[in-house]
Amino acid sequence: MIAIGVPAEGKDEPRIGLTPETVKKLVKAGATVTVRTGAGLRSHFSDQDYSDAGAKIAKTDADAVSGADVVFTVRRPPLSTAKAMKKGAALVGMLDPFSDAEGLDALAKTGVALFAMELMPRITRAQSMDVLSSQSNLAGYKAVVDAAAAFQRALPMMMTAAGTVPAARVFVMGVGVAGLQAIATARRLGAIVTATDVRPAVKEQVASLGAKFIAVEDEEFKQAETAGGYAKEMSADYKKKQAELVAEHVKNQDIVITTALIPGRPAPKLISKAMIESMRPGSIIMDLAAERGGNAELTEPGEIAEHKGVRIFGPLNLAGQVPVNASSLYARNLQAFIDPFIDKETKALAIDWDDELAKGTAIARDGAIVNAMVAERLGGKPASGAGAAAKAPAKTPSKRTATKRPPKGGKAP
Ligand code: NAD
Repeated sequence: MIAIGVPAEGKDEPRIGLTPETVKKLVKAGATVTVRTGAGLRSHFSDQDYSDAGAKIAKTDADAVSGADVVFTVRRPPLSTAKAMKKGAALVGMLDPFSDAEGLDALAKTGVALFAMELMPRITRAQSMDVLSSQSNLAGYKAVVDAAAAFQRALPMMMTAAGTVPAARVFVMGVGVAGLQAIATARRLGAIVTATDVRPAVKEQVASLGAKFIAVEDEEFKQAETAGGYAKEMSADYKKKQAELVAEHVKNQDIVITTALIPGRPAPKLISKAMIESMRPGSIIMDLAAERGGNAELTEPGEIAEHKGVRIFGPLNLAGQVPVNASSLYARNLQAFIDPFIDKETKALAIDWDDELAKGTAIARDGAIVNAMVAERLGGKPASGAGAAAKAPAKTPSKRTATKRPPKGGKAP
């Protein structure tokens, strides 16, 4: 019978790796689940909720994980947690695979199998396991809600006896999962929304949400999407044309939400200081790419910067600020991932190491790094073929972002 352990997260992480709802499902599937006391409190799940769902409550993290075949975490746990685990047990979480390679190596050397959920292949079968999507979606929503709360004017147009309140203009830069939800949320709040991206596939999606698409639509733009659906680094010429278009547009915007990311690269700089200076005082930039260095020139990760009356927010864990929903979706992602690896007859853990999803997410096995990107960062070769196809992304833009970077870490620093 498979045993699952859930330790508490660090002080900066309100989310939790399993919720009572998923505990119930796992117990029904034949698992035993042990949760560290108080681990769910910041997501508003009490020990009682977990017990009612069928979990045992452990006094310490070590007690929660020592008997487990699989340990579920949100962030990369401290080394002591991995040391308390059984050799060969699996640690599944957002392990931030491209920062602190030495720390990751130390975790690997404990003999625990490491699975980084950020590396989940983006194939149809894995959609329910895609933690980047589930968390980015909530981040996109929260970005708009926070921007609206900080903006000292109304978002919707209001026609009153005392005159008309104009609708606010919201510009979303980068229309991936977070950007799409940001557009939808801003539209629901009544703003006039425009959006830009370098991937042509996005144009229709933007229009279907009632927003206007703005982009330099040249030949390069038409080829800008990778087979994996991600953006490519654009040429210097394209970037120049894009900057001119954005500069012209941004000066009339009230709120700019930036989410632009390119796998393997630092976040592209899309909003210069001059563009910020062109915006009206009271305008807001919400830079979701802050964790990767930021899309705006003046973004300070984790801080609110102010320049000539424009406030630039650099939030680092927006999904963590909606922890109840974020934990629920995240826990379902993890459950969906582990479920196929529970033997239906013996109910024991049976990882199929040849499975595309196990291969894609595995970082370490039997004490050795098996992911090429991580191995390259450590200056070596992976121990086996697992995950060996990909090329290492560029280094993290700064130590600060590297150490604090939350969920999106998997795709690129
Ligand atoms: P992301 O977080 O990597 O990037 C956010 C957005 O920034 C992307 O849309 C990207 O094109 C854009 N961007 C990059 N450089 C830019 C620039 N210079 N200017 C403007 N925009 C720029 O993206 P994501 O949210 O992970 O989504 C990427 C794609 O993957 C989306 O099409 C999404 O629908 C798709 N997706 C597929 C699956 C699946 O099939 N399982 C799951 C999730 C997402």
